[in-house]
Amino acid sequence: MEPKKHKPKNADSRRALFLDRDGTLILDKHYLSDPAGVEIIPGVRDALQRASALGYQLFMLTNQSGIGRGLYTLDDALLVNARMETLLTLHSPLFAGICIAPEAPDQPSLYRKPSPRYIQEMIAQHHLDPAQCAMVGDRASDIQAGLGAGVRAIAVCTGELTADAWQTLALPGAEIHADLAAFVATLA
Ligand SMILES: [Mg+2]
Repeated sequence: MEPKKHKPKNADSRRALFLDRDGTLILDKHYLSDPAGVEIIPGVRDALQRASALGYQLFMLTNQSGIGRGLYTLDDALLVNARMETLLTLHSPLFAGICIAPEAPDQPSLYRKPSPRYIQEMIAQHHLDPAQCAMVGDRASDIQAGLGAGVRAIAVCTGELTADAWQTLALPGAEIHADLAAFVATLA
């Protein structure tokens, strides 16, 4: 992570959203490494703005096994993140923290979801209240990471799984919403 020039918005707040990237914030292009391929999912910009206005700190955690598989580099992933932030045209820094887990599924990992470790560490470091935090993602591993860390687990239908597929999976504790915007609209 680059040193931050500015204090993130809501830095003293105890509420936070932990956001998956591919299939949650941007379209999942599968091993996206070209910043030109970044497409923001409709409604995401306004949802992030609203969540910020409600006092939520924003964190992003993304599994990027393409790095571990040798398909692209960490720098490529950072350029994709930067392009996403450019397209979102929100405050900077947008995220209070970003975790890129570069491992392939068969490689030893500390942070690759479903590991709850990053969320747990951020809760401790930023003195967050787990009851006021949520993990939002489009895969079962996102849900497992959130539940493992003791925060709300929000399943969105903008990526890997449809609402029907989520229902079939029937993950206890998962709250299913159409997309990030629909979930954020329920926050007060
Ligand atoms: Mg995803």
